[in-house]
Amino acid sequence: MEVTAQSVWDNCLDFIKDNIQPQAFKTWFEPIKAVKLSGSALSIQVPSKFFYEWLEEHYVKILKVALTKELGEDAKLVYVIKMENTYGNRQPFTEKIPSSNRTAVKSQDVDVPFDNKSPELKNPFIIPGIRNVKIESQLNPSYNFENFLEGDSNRLARNAGIAVANKPGGTSFNPLLIFGGVGLGKTHLAHAIGVDIKDKYPEKTVLYISAEKFTQQYIDSVKKNNRNDFIHFYQIIDVLIIDDVQFLSGKTGTQDVFFHIFNHLHQNGKQVVLTSDKAPVDMQDIEQRLLSRFKWGLSAELQTPDFETRVSILKNKLYRDGVEMPEEIVEYVAKHIKTNVRELEGAIISLIAQSSFNKKEITINLAKDIVEKFVKNTKREVSIDYIQKVVSDYFQMDVSTLQSKTRKRHIVQARQLAMFFAKKYTKASLASIGSQIGQRDHATVLHACKTVDNLSSTDKQFRKYVEDLSKKLSL
Ligand code: ADP
Ligand code: MG
Repeated sequence: MEVTAQSVWDNCLDFIKDNIQPQAFKTWFEPIKAVKLSGSALSIQVPSKFFYEWLEEHYVKILKVALTKELGEDAKLVYVIKMENTYGNRQPFTEKIPSSNRTAVKSQDVDVPFDNKSPELKNPFIIPGIRNVKIESQLNPSYNFENFLEGDSNRLARNAGIAVANKPGGTSFNPLLIFGGVGLGKTHLAHAIGVDIKDKYPEKTVLYISAEKFTQQYIDSVKKNNRNDFIHFYQIIDVLIIDDVQFLSGKTGTQDVFFHIFNHLHQNGKQVVLTSDKAPVDMQDIEQRLLSRFKWGLSAELQTPDFETRVSILKNKLYRDGVEMPEEIVEYVAKHIKTNVRELEGAIISLIAQSSFNKKEITINLAKDIVEKFVKNTKREVSIDYIQKVVSDYFQMDVSTLQSKTRKRHIVQARQLAMFFAKKYTKASLASIGSQIGQRDHATVLHACKTVDNLSSTDKQFRKYVEDLSKKLSL
């Protein structure tokens, strides 16, 4: 059989396919076309510069193995970038490559001679002076907007992210600061913005970096005496995404350098995206001038998702993993894990794993066991506010009605039940419960608890209320 670029590449693909995730294969290998075979050099066409960088960063080893199997030790891979991009008049900041005569540049394991047709195809991610540090976008394509489900809790942040991705540097959301508690999706959203920008504007230089890594790089640059190169490198980035900026607190040197980088980028219409576990007002030990910059654009909060959103997140996860699970179990998990999406996903993954390893059916009881483990770790207490909300909902009244001074019997009962459960499920004192449930005193709360005890042993209907509410409130 004749050996052609196509046949060599097909064989490589067979090998690669067996060795990586199907989704990754689809994303990164299916779009590639084999275009030329000359001697032991195979030319493949990739859709963008980003694509090439990604392949180089993540798949260079497997490409080398596959290609060597097909073409022997001298195998070479040549990338041809399909899009004819003009990269603007950006200053070169690595060693100059003569424009007519591209030299081969050693890139990790595979020699990548640059094809004549692809101007600018040199590796730009080498910090001058910090040799052998190859920086690429560091984006995780599995964090995208599509699988970041929208709900009330994240609508503002998600949509601001989309707006920024559509017009990086061109909206008033600059910087875009996304803040919120752990496991609520800050990192996911930060990546999604970068991934979407790379998709829409492949020529833009996007960099995702954690504040911790940024700090480390800065410290290294000071040690190696090339602080200016460090700054210069960051100043040529089009979209800079820094995750967990609260990490910069107390680190004045890094804050100082970031301040200069930020100003430069902002003045030049470049986009900055930041995440933090706190709102700017609550950030400690961050210089005032930096804090004020953080507030220039938009600060969007990620809140804890409501029940519906939690259910959608779970269903989406199950759907993507191709797992079916009874509705009531999904709802059970969503109902009990409330404060952290990572834990929510963790519980569902444990559930799938438990059932498949132990060949157990996924039942409510199994779900209970697993959820309990997750919930125990987070040690949560229901709040008095929550109890009032649940009780009012149950009796279809507003919380303000429940708290009001009225003596109508069903309202008094609802109020007494709220007090009873507050005593039972929280560590709050009688006085504190009274003051939170309509400004009553401790004697009223004590009386309420006794009344509920009495009524539930004498009144069948009332006992049903207590049972129903216990179920709703039980963890
Ligand atoms: P943070 O950085 O705020 O601690 P992450 O971004 O790491 O949180 O999110 C934790 C996990 O929850 C990730 O696996 C992420 O994909 C998932 N997640 C968070 N919010 C959502 C959402 N709205 N839709 C889908 N997955 C989400
Ligand atoms: Mg994070």
